[in-house]
Amino acid sequence: MQVEILGTAAGGSFPQWNCACRNCRYLRRGTFSGKPRTQIQVAISSDSESWFLLNASPDLRTQIEACAFLHPRGSARDSPISGVVLTSADLDQSLGLLLLREWQPLQIYSTASVQKILREDNTVFSMLERSSGQARWTGIVPGATFELASTAGEPSGIRCTPISLATHYPAYVPAGRLVELCPGEAVLGLILESSSGKRLGYFPAVGQVDEALLQQLNSLDVLLFDGTFWTDDELIELRHGGQVARQMGHIPVSSHGGSLDLLSELQCKRKMFVHINNTNPMLDESGPEYRQVHEHGWEIAEDGCHLEL
Ligand SMILES: [Zn+2]
Repeated sequence: MQVEILGTAAGGSFPQWNCACRNCRYLRRGTFSGKPRTQIQVAISSDSESWFLLNASPDLRTQIEACAFLHPRGSARDSPISGVVLTSADLDQSLGLLLLREWQPLQIYSTASVQKILREDNTVFSMLERSSGQARWTGIVPGATFELASTAGEPSGIRCTPISLATHYPAYVPAGRLVELCPGEAVLGLILESSSGKRLGYFPAVGQVDEALLQQLNSLDVLLFDGTFWTDDELIELRHGGQVARQMGHIPVSSHGGSLDLLSELQCKRKMFVHINNTNPMLDESGPEYRQVHEHGWEIAEDGCHLEL
């Protein structure tokens, strides 16, 4: 299985258009020891011909153009992108679908609840379904493994198991709709297994780690994990109010009960942080936080990272 990490930032990218935190300011000034990042996006393939996207980022157009293997190959319109797996209805994870609307056959996997939000309440997504050969939505259920396949039914050899992680839906979902949704379908992590049995974990938004999740994570070869915030009150300090990281569905990287602490015994061969907010001090490669992450055996994924499982 080929794994291409096209983007690694949390919502807003790095730098973020309206942010003048230390990281964003220094990056714009050219004095930051670290790299700019686009919003999180991963693409996987078993044959390097047909690709599946894990979510669809608002930066998807730029990310596709930056990768030759995602460019159309024939003379007509023919993208190697066969499908998308959505882990939530968050705009950061689903807005990029609208960039794939040009009559492209596309298999879209999501929970029934996420489908209701996007297809029934947000009519702009109907632009993906103007012809019968365009988007095909397929419901997925937490805990139920399925094989990724194209709209023509060609199997990919990659098996996907969705894991239910959280129960909160995006703030734009109206209260009347919320009562009709299944809480366990709000936020997923994904385990992707290659035909040779190698396992990739994709967990960009994790609010808590319990024993059951730890067991799942221990079965992985490579883990891409929520690296949004360094501390629980990172954004509160910046905005002088608001929610702590855990309330936003992200356990912080540092401190007691943070991911470095909770996942210190994890057996995975590679552990990489993704979905990193522009405020996170571990982005500064000259800083103590960056060193601390690496001393704990973790990597900070970068845009353009390639993995093979
Ligand atoms: Zn910033």
